[in-house]
Amino acid sequence: MPLTDKLRRLAARTLPVAPLRAQLDAPLASISFDDIPASAARAGAPILEAAGVRGTFYICGSHQDRSFEGRPQFARTDIEALHAAGHEIACHTFSHPHVPALDAAGIDDEIARNAAYVADITGKARMESFAYPYGDLSPASARHCASRFASCRDVVAGVNAGTFDMGRLKSLGLETRKNARAEVARWIEAAVNARGWLILFTHDVDPDASAHGCTPQELADTIADIQAAGIEIVTVAEGARRVRAAANC
Ligand SMILES: [Zn+2]
Repeated sequence: MPLTDKLRRLAARTLPVAPLRAQLDAPLASISFDDIPASAARAGAPILEAAGVRGTFYICGSHQDRSFEGRPQFARTDIEALHAAGHEIACHTFSHPHVPALDAAGIDDEIARNAAYVADITGKARMESFAYPYGDLSPASARHCASRFASCRDVVAGVNAGTFDMGRLKSLGLETRKNARAEVARWIEAAVNARGWLILFTHDVDPDASAHGCTPQELADTIADIQAAGIEIVTVAEGARRVRAAANC
């Protein structure tokens, strides 16, 4: 990675974007999926539903019926089914660009095209939650995205507690090759201790998971571990509402 890119990423993760100080009464967790692969909708969502919870699906409208990073992506009927089941349909841009490469008008165009795609399915003109493609952000692009959404999700592991940033919410990748169950358990414990908001993200949900995905068993185990720790699982949109309400108290 060129030095300028490294400095940009460092600056983006050092400077406040949309800081918030909030103390929840009880810890929260959210489970999210990016892009999204068809298996996230067809294998992942039913696992959440069986546990009585709903997830957040950050979609790119341009991915419909395509393959991305070697995995078949969603069909329109998948998004219809997710919405009907009460999952949150959230924004991951329309075409999955590196947002720091775009100016404000370019980011707005990506947001508007994705919003039009989703509104045609859900009837909702606006999405509340955003996740940066590739986890790539700059101070300027993050500030702009944060002005358009209630929350923007980064891919830096951690619990959102105390003073944290709604413009780059921390999240833990539920990835087969990276996070053993014990690692996830440590973050669950940290969320309980801080009464914070733990956000997880993954991509495909497949017995033969990609480097960025997880197996159905890992997803089910993670949800069971979170619930066993007494943590309520809510969508990212609902989590954002809870922390903002806690910040106002
Ligand atoms: Zn993505």
